[in-house]
Amino acid sequence: MPPVKVLRVAAALVLLNAGWLALGLVHVWSHPALGWVTLPVGALLAGLACRQVARAPELDVSTRRFWGRMALACVLLTAAIVSNAVDAVGGATLSQRVGPVTVTLYLLMLALVLWALFRLPSWERSRSDWARFGLDALMVMITVAALTWHFLLRNHQEWNAQTGSAGALISIVVVTFLSVATFTKVAFAGAGRLDRRAIRILAAGAAIASTFGSLSPLLVSRPYLSTSLIAVPIASLTIHLAAVRQLRAGNRPPARRRRSRRVSLVPYLAVAITDALLLATSTTDGNETFVMELTAVTLTVVVVIRQILALRDNNRLLGTVDAQLTHLKGYQNELEYQATHDSLTAAANRALLERHVQRLLAEREPFHLMLLDVDDFKTVNDRLGHGVGDALLTLVTNRLTDAVDYRGLVARLGGDEFAIAVPAVAAPGNAIEHLLDDVVAAVREPVELAGHTLVTGTSVGIATSRSDDTASELLRRADVAMYSAKGAGGNGWRWFDPAMDQAADETARLSADLRTALADGQIFALFHPITDLETETPIGAEVLMRWQHPERGLVPPDVFIPLAERNGSIVELGYWVLEFAARQAADWQGRFGDRAPAKVSVNVSARQLAEPDFVDRVEAILRETGVDTSGLVLEVTETAVLTTDVAIAQLHRLKDLGLRVALDDFGTGHSSLSLLLDSPVDVLKVDKSFVSGTSANGAGAIITKNLVGFVNDFGIEAVAEGVETQAQAATLRRVGYRLAQGHLYGRPMAAEDFERLFTAHLGASERGPGQGEGERRAVAGGAGRGEVAAVGAGQLAGDRQAEAAAAGGAGT
Ligand code: C2E
Ligand code: CA
Ligand code: CA
Repeated sequence: MPPVKVLRVAAALVLLNAGWLALGLVHVWSHPALGWVTLPVGALLAGLACRQVARAPELDVSTRRFWGRMALACVLLTAAIVSNAVDAVGGATLSQRVGPVTVTLYLLMLALVLWALFRLPSWERSRSDWARFGLDALMVMITVAALTWHFLLRNHQEWNAQTGSAGALISIVVVTFLSVATFTKVAFAGAGRLDRRAIRILAAGAAIASTFGSLSPLLVSRPYLSTSLIAVPIASLTIHLAAVRQLRAGNRPPARRRRSRRVSLVPYLAVAITDALLLATSTTDGNETFVMELTAVTLTVVVVIRQILALRDNNRLLGTVDAQLTHLKGYQNELEYQATHDSLTAAANRALLERHVQRLLAEREPFHLMLLDVDDFKTVNDRLGHGVGDALLTLVTNRLTDAVDYRGLVARLGGDEFAIAVPAVAAPGNAIEHLLDDVVAAVREPVELAGHTLVTGTSVGIATSRSDDTASELLRRADVAMYSAKGAGGNGWRWFDPAMDQAADETARLSADLRTALADGQIFALFHPITDLETETPIGAEVLMRWQHPERGLVPPDVFIPLAERNGSIVELGYWVLEFAARQAADWQGRFGDRAPAKVSVNVSARQLAEPDFVDRVEAILRETGVDTSGLVLEVTETAVLTTDVAIAQLHRLKDLGLRVALDDFGTGHSSLSLLLDSPVDVLKVDKSFVSGTSANGAGAIITKNLVGFVNDFGIEAVAEGVETQAQAATLRRVGYRLAQGHLYGRPMAAEDFERLFTAHLGASERGPGQGEGERRAVAGGAGRGEVAAVGAGQLAGDRQAEAAAAGGAGT
């Protein structure tokens, strides 16, 4: 039968019993046992309902366990009823006496219910909450005690006579106390996922049943009746009702009660009730005590009023606190904004972007993530100042925001790096690629800033979210794609491609290998002759680093030097090269005296210059090797010098050590001639792109020509790099260059090969020109271990092979 129908049957049984009892008040029942028949039925039905709830799979464990215990309690109730009935109608005479077995069974049943209630999970409450609860409960207890005293214990003689012992009375008192305590606890601390309405039904049932139970003295004159006849069916029915209620409610989590700021009424109610009782009992006693008690009552009333006023004040205070809280909330919002937005451009910042990306991933909403880097932003910042740099970043942000046009979130991640998250639905199909084009074009628009017309590019990498993505992995892919776009020359965009990962992996591996390369003896250095254009004699050499990788063979310096700069190993490599060069120069100085190579040139990268103890360590190397510093040149690039004032200060200190400084790759960076005047430069190395590159005959020629005049005026030596043909050498000679470096005069070679080349010329110059010519050719023609004859421009692969041959000897 469905639970609701069973419930109707149970309700009908209770009505039947109520009728029996009501009629019994005016009519003497001749078969009193009949009145007891329905009682165990009602209790068993309630027990069955509880068992059904205890097996409902949708309920959580603790709720099911509670209803299981209730079912057990119903069984105990049934037993108690049977025992109660035997006490009443089983004897020779009718009796209202409740026997010890019955009392025990009733008490056990109640104890089980209360225990079940106590075992329900509680809410998290603070200690002061519990203290307040304890005080409230204490007040409730005192009041209940007073009531019990007034209505029950005062008349205990009557009761004892009627029930045959004090047991029943004491039980009722104990049970009342326990029930009140339990229900107060549940009301205060919650009852897990137990339905709150079900608890209320149970509480009401307990109250009604015990009220009826305590009316026993009224029935003393009618021994064929018992208050159990109504109290027990009501208890059964309410348990039954509560079980059905729980079944309907299912397993909804209880709505957490908002902590109300309203004043608890419990203490006042307790005081009022006790006062009423006090007055009610006093009227029967003497006048004097009445006056005393009236005073006490008046006092409590005043205290209560005072208390209420204080509480109202408190509430008003709380109101102002609330107002201040709203204020604080405003600040908090402000702080939140600051924490999630970039102060310069007002775009979202990295934190907000990451949160946004995480949310999109959690919602499984497919989206694209673009990572943008402004090309050459550093140069703008360095050359035109931070003010212009900031203005440019703000402008770029605005342009990006306009281009994206609410289709996604634009964030500035820091520096000149931006990110844009675009949900796939906002840019379906190739709309995303149009958006990418727009973004790149928007940044490309020329801009007037502080009197300069700037044209900036941006490199964009884009990756699409995957189902199992994490924010950092997605960002990483976009980053890899961005680097690829940058590597392709910038001002464009690239989709992420798994092949890029492979390349990045390889780079990472190479970078790791590089850290141990020096210790493993894989690093060596070659000497590239610097030649006097007039006499065609080598007057010195540039020292060039090489890496003989055990598996990859010779790794080109354009590959490993940038890697070493990034992972910092350039610092140690740099000291090694310097020491190697200094030792070699000292050796030549010792053996050839005045005629030793005048210039041994060593490359120093920006990262090395930035080392705070760089000059000290250089000084130590110079001291240890005992080299005459006037024969050593340090080559630095423009960018290294341009970036910081510190670098220029370092150069001055190096010069104080007697070293000379060359400005390398002049013309490829953002060179300005004024830099030459500001920095302590002795030598200028004109980049090979002007000498043998594609512009060598046009603009390059003009530049090289004008440069040399300017340079000579300032007493700076010029070295033309990358001289590959006699024609180039002739041009350089004609416009006024004295020194050159290039394949025409030999490839980078091992120290002993350079020494042979050098001494051949030495001998030649001693024997006079013309005589040495054949010998020199022989060396340049391949007699040396590392060298091959001059080849034309652009044969880089060939170059590397030639050097690899040299490496075979020098590396190990
Ligand atoms: P760099 O300082 O400009 O060195 C000159 C480069 O031009 C060398 O390449 C040299 O072999 C090449 N070269 C010289 N003459 C010619 C020519 O006629 N035609 C052509 N096509 N190339 C010529 P390399 O040895 O590959 O070095 C590349 C770069 O690696 C160097 O450029 C330098 O920036 C860096 N590097 C090399 N060794 C070191 C080092 O010990 N320390 C640091 N920090 N950087 C180094
Ligand atoms: Ca160089
Ligand atoms: Ca150079």
